[in-house]
Formats: sequence, C-alpha cells, structure tokens
Amino acid sequence: MSATCPQCSASDQSVAVPHALAPTAEPPLDEPTRALLAPPPPPQPGRHRSVVAITFYSLSGVFAVFGLLSVTKSFREDLEGAETAELIAYFVGTLIVPGFLLAVGLIAHVVSRRRHERRFVENYGLLHTHWQRHQHVWQAAWFCRRCRVAFFPDAVLRPDFPASPPIRLEQFPLWVVTAADRAHGFPNAPVAPS
Ligand SMILES: [Zn+2]
Repeated sequence: MSATCPQCSASDQSVAVPHALAPTAEPPLDEPTRALLAPPPPPQPGRHRSVVAITFYSLSGVFAVFGLLSVTKSFREDLEGAETAELIAYFVGTLIVPGFLLAVGLIAHVVSRRRHERRFVENYGLLHTHWQRHQHVWQAAWFCRRCRVAFFPDAVLRPDFPASPPIRLEQFPLWVVTAADRAHGFPNAPVAPS
C-alpha cells in the first residue's frame, strides 16, 4: 500500500511512519527526524516534587547556616575558655533544630512520593488506554521523505475522517494526541498500513 503525500501529490516517497523508523529502512532517517516521529511514550509516573519537603529542607539549611555562624561567633567570644566537651555539646546543640527539620523534610518527601506512586498506579488503566489510542493513531501516520512532512490518508483513522493536511514534523507529536482525542470512541482501532 502507498499513500499520496498531500504536499507533493506523489506517493513514491511515502512510507508508513513505523516502517520509516525501522532499523532496516533505507535510507535511514537522521536522529532529529527519528525523535520527532518516535512513537508516543508509555505512561510514566512523571516527576515527583514535594513542596512541603522542599520547605523543610530550606528551613533546615537556613537554621544550619545561622547555627554555624553562631558557633563561630561563640568560639571567638563567649566560649574561649570553655572545655572541649562543652564546645562539642554547644556545636551539637546548634545542629539539633536543622537536623530535626531535615528529618521532617525527608519523611514528608517519602510520604509524598508514595502518594504520587499510588496515584499513578490507580490511574494506570486510564493512562494506558489513552496511550493505546495514541499508539493506534501514530501507527496510522505516513511520512513523505521528499517533503519531510507527516500525514494521515483519507479514512485511515476512522471512515469519516478526511485526509489530513501536510503536518510539519515539529507538530507531529501534538497532532497524534489531538487526533486520538478527536477519534476517541472509534469502534475499530486503525490498523498500521503495510
Ligand atoms: Zn511529499
């Protein structure tokens, strides 16, 4: 099967996107083109960030700095005649608050990360369904080597879906997601053209 490119109106340089990315494809695509045509990534937990933990880490850092400044000042002034044991006790004392804040920050971080992971697991089914739809749309896409554009032939996504215009590769990943949303609910998933 071949598909007519909507830009050059020819089909001799058209190739299904999955075939264009195959290791045996000739000529091989350059890396930037491969990256733009790459299949949609599977669901990932995403980046985890705990504002509470970061706040405690910051407070710990602030208290540690003030504590160390205080110790330095005390070494010079108040505690010049103090015993070594007293100096150590004083030094440790100044680190108790930052240490406590750091520990609270670590606990908050672990709790938040577990909640984040649990939410991902709970939503995985839905995320996976979306990803499968993106995959089906991606598999239906074509690439014109001459024009370096992607496109969807007439009715390849759904019988009532017209052919797409030429899609610049920078817009291709977003196009896949948008087309999957528009085709949401199609009874028969599009099959990769061969
Ligand atoms: Zn073309």
